[in-house]
Amino acid sequence: MSSQGSFSEYFVDRTPLSSPPSSLSPPPPSSPPPSLSPPVDPEQLQAKLARPRTCWVFNHMPDEDPETKYFNLANGRMEWRCKYCPKKYLLNGGTRCPKVHLRAIHLIDEKSPRDNKVKKRQLSMEDSITMAKKYPHSRRRLSEEASGLSIDPDVLEKLYINFLASCNQPFRLVECSAFRSLLSFLNEDVEVWLPNSSDLVTTWLMRQRDHERERVQCRLWSAYTRIHLSLDLWTSPNHMAILGVIATFISDDSALESFVLALRQVKGDHSGENIAKYVMEVIQEWGIAPKLGYIQMDNASNNDTMMKHVSIGKLLHLIPLSLY
Ligand SMILES: [Zn+2]
Repeated sequence: MSSQGSFSEYFVDRTPLSSPPSSLSPPPPSSPPPSLSPPVDPEQLQAKLARPRTCWVFNHMPDEDPETKYFNLANGRMEWRCKYCPKKYLLNGGTRCPKVHLRAIHLIDEKSPRDNKVKKRQLSMEDSITMAKKYPHSRRRLSEEASGLSIDPDVLEKLYINFLASCNQPFRLVECSAFRSLLSFLNEDVEVWLPNSSDLVTTWLMRQRDHERERVQCRLWSAYTRIHLSLDLWTSPNHMAILGVIATFISDDSALESFVLALRQVKGDHSGENIAKYVMEVIQEWGIAPKLGYIQMDNASNNDTMMKHVSIGKLLHLIPLSLY
């Protein structure tokens, strides 16, 4: 994969601070340094390495430890690497570029985790409002006791389904009078729009699933890099064999994207051939065969067989019908 190739240019140094990387030692007198990369002063470098890093940008590098040093092999200089995309900046010019990059591309700044939580919540609400405006639905009023004007029912639907899914709440929660009393106390208009039966919640859920699917499909089509898959097969608490398929890629607006494409129940044995059938189904459903990159999975022998079958399946999928 092309994006992996660039990693060969770099290395991560984890040696103790007393022994800086050998490649950074000044060159011997007989070999003058290249004109474009002046020699690195070992004392300056030592001081730089010994100073603890306090700037917040170092918390957003691939390694969790902000003290991990990354060096550019071409010129031996220390650099900052982005945790969320392939971007990197030399550090001799300070940390301005990483700060601008994190703020502009990933909407991350130096604020405290609490502030970031609030910001994340605001973004999630803004996303919900945008999605709700994109897919408006006409709907029936469920109560005449309030005006219902203070609540946008499309946004309520989106936020309510998000809440059910992320907090694993039952559909019948809307039938619980104590729950409804709490919501009505906060805003009586909720009675006008919030379903009073779990059947209507199911309709909401399926509708939101379709909207989300359309959004994910658009993001997959906008992938700038190849689409890499992570697979895992495990047994759920209710004894079902579930295959999870997650796609990871960089989008055309330079964001690192990751989506769950499927959580599929695997019927039959767990042979590579059988699992490959489900993996190919997911690949075809999302139309990502031409952009498929690496597939990551456990080091189990049935996964080797599975990969052979997926390779054959992908090949057949990519050959135009006229060549059969
Ligand atoms: Zn980045």
